Amino acid sequence: MQTTLFQDPRTETLFEIDKRLAQTIGRLDKRHRLEPAHQLVLSMLGNRTYDYQSRAAYERLVKRFSSLEVLSRAQPNEVLPLIEGVNFAEVKAERIPAALDYIISSQGDLRMDFLRDMPVCKALTWLSCINGVGRKVSAAVLNFSTLARPALVLDSHHLRVLSRLGLISQRHNAEKAYGLLMPLLPTEWNAEDIELHHVRIKILGQQLCHFSHALCHQCPLREVCPSAFNISSDKSNFVHAPHKDRMRMTSALPFGKNDTEGGSVHTSSGQP
Ligand code: SF4
Repeated sequence: MQTTLFQDPRTETLFEIDKRLAQTIGRLDKRHRLEPAHQLVLSMLGNRTYDYQSRAAYERLVKRFSSLEVLSRAQPNEVLPLIEGVNFAEVKAERIPAALDYIISSQGDLRMDFLRDMPVCKALTWLSCINGVGRKVSAAVLNFSTLARPALVLDSHHLRVLSRLGLISQRHNAEKAYGLLMPLLPTEWNAEDIELHHVRIKILGQQLCHFSHALCHQCPLREVCPSAFNISSDKSNFVHAPHKDRMRMTSALPFGKNDTEGGSVHTSSGQP
């Protein structure tokens, strides 16, 4: 990548980070893109939930309800038993049908095609008006779905890793970080490049750059990371993953790709 006269040096840093991760992680399989409304449901389920749990809950919903229009009319007590296992299931059992109903009421159907041509910032704002839909879910609908818009999904892994890399502050939430990072992304990156960048950073956060400690000696970014070998190993901060996830992470080191569910590189952008 050539640095132009007025280019922010952080753009080159992002490019370098992505290049090193791509070289280490290798090729990522293409993911099947969902229709926007389906991605919305999956991403809402994924908030603060492991991907394998949100994907399983999504599949139960799709199996039980003949269409998302039918799901939009469902009562929370019909939805709740199907999504048990995801965090905040009671809240999501109310909000998911309500979100779908809101889209149908305002647009007439669930196609959400109008988001395809709308400027990305306006599309994010429109989605964020739906109760229970924040910046991360909005960006996931735009970027991961068949809309394939250039919007960077920032989950907790992404925020943690980028703050350790000195690109954002620890205090930045997803919305602030998004506003800072989007203008810094290399202009040649298209929606798919941005999506792959998210996936690579997420894999790094899941497998090496953990919340409580970092395995810097295995990290391909250690030469460019200002926090390398300087992350506290304070176990009191450790967030324990379920046994299944711990097994998947540790058995995959370094940089196995089997920590994303269903053999797909892509995720609902759930957490952790
Ligand atoms: S060098 Fe260490 S702190 Fe920096 S990104 Fe890699 S694992 Fe995280």
